[in-house]
Amino acid sequence: MAQTNYTLLGHPLGHSLSSFIHEALFRLSGQDASYSLSSIPPEEFPDKVKGLLELDGFNITIPYKVEIMPYLEHIDENAALYQSVNTVKASTNGDGTSVHTGYNTDVFGFHKGIQSLGTSLSAGHVLLIGAGGSANMIATETALVGSRLTIAVRSQSIHKAERLRDRLMNINPTAHVTVSDLSNLTGPYNLMVNATPVGMFPHTNECPVGDETIKACAHIFDLIYNPVETNLLKIGRRHGKAVSGGISMLVWQAVYAHMIWYQAEFSQKEIAAIITAAENKIIAEF
Ligand code: NAP
Repeated sequence: MAQTNYTLLGHPLGHSLSSFIHEALFRLSGQDASYSLSSIPPEEFPDKVKGLLELDGFNITIPYKVEIMPYLEHIDENAALYQSVNTVKASTNGDGTSVHTGYNTDVFGFHKGIQSLGTSLSAGHVLLIGAGGSANMIATETALVGSRLTIAVRSQSIHKAERLRDRLMNINPTAHVTVSDLSNLTGPYNLMVNATPVGMFPHTNECPVGDETIKACAHIFDLIYNPVETNLLKIGRRHGKAVSGGISMLVWQAVYAHMIWYQAEFSQKEIAAIITAAENKIIAEF
């Protein structure tokens, strides 16, 4: 069988972990496939995107998760809900024409990530830090399962969190959503999710919330994966909380792309080994 070809579209891509993770997944499944990085500046996007549509599939990261949508013939339900595509699969119609379908695999990656903490969004009150792209997806998933949700942001962004709350109330009019300033949190919460870059390399001493808020949470999930253990997670671990960083989410969203592209199947043990290898790579190289 001929080699299949995939890429990651984004800009700038810098020091990306994607090739490492995807190549490991292709190797595990015995696929003869290439995975490249396509860092395309915005002014070249309209021309160069046509070349990507010739591939078997590709992933998309910032800033093209929305821009890619008009180039695709089909959009999957989750990607349509979040207006965000991070995976494309090319297939061929009966008449030989190409069809491109856009998916969002971050949702799957996030659920698998918090599952590794031994909890879920439906297990109790969720404290979500941030109201950006990822927070939007996590807030919507929480509202859909009907759990209590507190969206906490810095004071200058309260209006963004209120806009998100209004959107959630349209999706589920019985959702329990509170908007709060980051400095005014009480709890208790079952799960805290940090969906801000606060604490990310090189600002590794920063933490989005104070000690008292950390103590009020049973489980803490930080979307940041560099460093592997953020200051938030270190403090949480010291207080005996169940904590996890974002690398599991990053790996699981890639796993789901392989399930979409060629119906790949992996064991939990195989994925756990890739998560550990990716963590070791970050510690050694990033
Ligand atoms: P985004 O759309 O830019 O949203 C960032 C959010 O963080 C905004 O609500 C922003 O609020 C807030 N924020 C930024 N700086 C802040 C500060 N100093 N104090 C308080 N809030 C602050 O970003 P995103 O795409 O959602 O990504 C968020 C984080 O998740 C990033 O660290 C990203 O690397 C990580 N991520 C990880 C994965 C994974 O697979 N593990 C996947 C996606 C994203 P303002 O409006 O006030 O600026």
